[in-house]
Amino acid sequence: MSFPENINSILEKVKASDPKNCRAWFNQLRLGGFEGGLMRIECPDKTTAGYLEENCKTSFIRAAQSITGRLVSVEFISNDNTLTPTGNNSKSAAKKTSARQDDVTDDVPYRLHPDLIFDNFVVGSCNRLAHASCVAVSASPGNTYNPLFLHGSVGLGKTHLLHAICCDIIRKNPDAQVRFLTCEQFVNLFIKAISENNLPGFQQKFRNVDILIIDDVQFLRNREGSQEEFFHTFNALYDGRKQIVLSADCSPDEIADLQERLVSRFKWGLVARIDAPAHETREAIVRKKAALRGFVIPDEIAQFIATKITSNTRELEGAITSIYAMAQATGEPVTLELARNLLGYEQSPQKQSVDFTTIVDAVAKYYKVRLADIKGKGRHKSIIVPRQICMYLARKLTPMSLEEIGVNIGRRDHTTVMHSIDKIDLLTRDDKVIKKQVDEIVTLIKPA
Ligand code: ADP
Ligand code: MG
Repeated sequence: MSFPENINSILEKVKASDPKNCRAWFNQLRLGGFEGGLMRIECPDKTTAGYLEENCKTSFIRAAQSITGRLVSVEFISNDNTLTPTGNNSKSAAKKTSARQDDVTDDVPYRLHPDLIFDNFVVGSCNRLAHASCVAVSASPGNTYNPLFLHGSVGLGKTHLLHAICCDIIRKNPDAQVRFLTCEQFVNLFIKAISENNLPGFQQKFRNVDILIIDDVQFLRNREGSQEEFFHTFNALYDGRKQIVLSADCSPDEIADLQERLVSRFKWGLVARIDAPAHETREAIVRKKAALRGFVIPDEIAQFIATKITSNTRELEGAITSIYAMAQATGEPVTLELARNLLGYEQSPQKQSVDFTTIVDAVAKYYKVRLADIKGKGRHKSIIVPRQICMYLARKLTPMSLEEIGVNIGRRDHTTVMHSIDKIDLLTRDDKVIKKQVDEIVTLIKPA
């Protein structure tokens, strides 16, 4: 076998082995050079190269090896250094932007994701105000709504919109100084700055920006010191007419133990709530997500998924990818039957009355760990995963809120609960072993 003429044969193999991570824009990838066992793949921009590096490297290596019959490693490169998927090509812009990305990755591990742009966000009555205000803010940062505060429960698109603002602003103005991070990262950097006696450095980093975007600010609850620092950061930016965009899983008033002066500042600009999407919007999201992956989804299946999964938009995506992955693995066509079989246990969560104790008992028994350890403080991997699975299943199978789950699993903060759920949610899609374990536990909890 020899070096392929173009990338098509590689893409075909990658699509077959890893459909969930494939995107319609893969057809823009080009084969670069092949030297010393290293295959270069040219990407449209830095964000897409970052995406491939993070999500698809192994699939590309496998495909390249099977086609060339050699030991090959793969590198994703982008000639155009812009951050955004539809990026600006100007040389000086490219230089500045790439410098910032280094700067961003240096201390802020929020990597921009090519999927999370305005074009891929479906607007419905549930999120119209939030979407419109994000578009307005990115058109004219600092001049419209300041601060902009988005809130809504988990999986309804807050982080997607924040990414979209960030991408859009940088695309239009590569010189803009944008800082985008989670509140947890903000708090951790603050604590680190104190311990290293470098508060001025920290303050400099956050007060000299044009746009500060902070995700999940409910993380500030009960954190007095960080609230104090956040207050001063806020004032410095606000007084300098710099844009501030925040998100949380509840409105400013509902963030427990948040200083009154912060609550009131968070409401100075625009507070936009995101509600759960209605059926038509869910269906449109399913189509959008399928198209993004290059799948042609039959109407009846898009409708079926939108009917069956009503809680969290992220689960719509999970459903699409598992249906296509299953079809790929078994060589079956994507049919309603297949979708039915696959989404079986998610069909009617409201009818299932599983209680929390049953879940924790089943998980403890399955992994042969002690109940006390699941609820305890231990951080060993052997206990963390079972603990996270308890939270994940509680969210899926009971009507418990994040707070309730947190209280019941060793008084954990609800953001911890949220991250645990997200983590397992991802794992059940990416890791076959975990997916199988979770399915087996579900059968223990709810014998067919
Ligand atoms: P949140 O931050 O509110 O928990 P995310 O922004 O992480 O939610 O969204 C979860 C997933 O759902 C993401 O993959 C996101 O792209 C998708 N999503 C949510 N709302 C929409 C929407 N209106 N249109 C398209 N995708 C959406
Ligand atoms: Mg989020």
